[in-house]
Amino acid sequence: MRRFRADLHLHSVLSPCADLAMSPDQILASAKERKLDIIAITDHNSTKQCNVVREMAAKQHIIVLNGCEVNSQEEVHALCLFEDDHTRDEFQQFIDQYLPHIPNHPNYFGYQLVVNRNNMIREEIPWYLGNGLQVSLEKIADYVHQLNGIFIPAHIDRPINSLFSQLGFLPKELKIDALQISKHADEMAIRKKFDIHPDITLIKASDAHYPEDIGTACSVFELINPTFEEIRWALHQQHGRSVKIEA
Ligand SMILES: [Zn+2]
Ligand SMILES: [Zn+2]
Repeated sequence: MRRFRADLHLHSVLSPCADLAMSPDQILASAKERKLDIIAITDHNSTKQCNVVREMAAKQHIIVLNGCEVNSQEEVHALCLFEDDHTRDEFQQFIDQYLPHIPNHPNYFGYQLVVNRNNMIREEIPWYLGNGLQVSLEKIADYVHQLNGIFIPAHIDRPINSLFSQLGFLPKELKIDALQISKHADEMAIRKKFDIHPDITLIKASDAHYPEDIGTACSVFELINPTFEEIRWALHQQHGRSVKIEA
């Protein structure tokens, strides 16, 4: 088994609330500086910045997972991760179908930019990406799994936009692969507070919106090879793979 330090919750320039410094090259430079092996690009309600970061990372020995942080109809945030570009595309179409067409106001909410490897703007998303999709959390989780993806409710300890703040409990029908807690949260305290079953894995991630926050909260995976399947096994503590919050 080998150890892989992972930060699976990062925002790029595409997220309205993220710093414009969160360009693909800066994200990768910061990830390298912080000695991360695996990162996931998880912009609000969009997967459109993943490809460029993945392409650029290929030569830098950093594994970049396709992802996004969805906001459900119930205003719950959840990380959705995908193995390849095909399933990422399929999920992007799902988002496009359910994102309300409410115009973004860049001066108020921030810019929503897809950039290329040279930081040239390729696209500006006109619809505000912070809104809830018009589809339930359970349906989102089901669709992510239909696409063989990974579904992780985000920052579950937060007083807003979290599973417990919005729903009050973890529904039995909701298929999850793990739960993510925030940088300063204490795993044991959170497990106790929300009565989380010991079989459910908790991970930590930075939820970075600024370069200096990248890698400030990590999880350490024990894998033979850093494949998507092994990452899933680790989240479920299967086949000898495992993941732990970095102390
Ligand atoms: Zn969030
Ligand atoms: Zn986030």
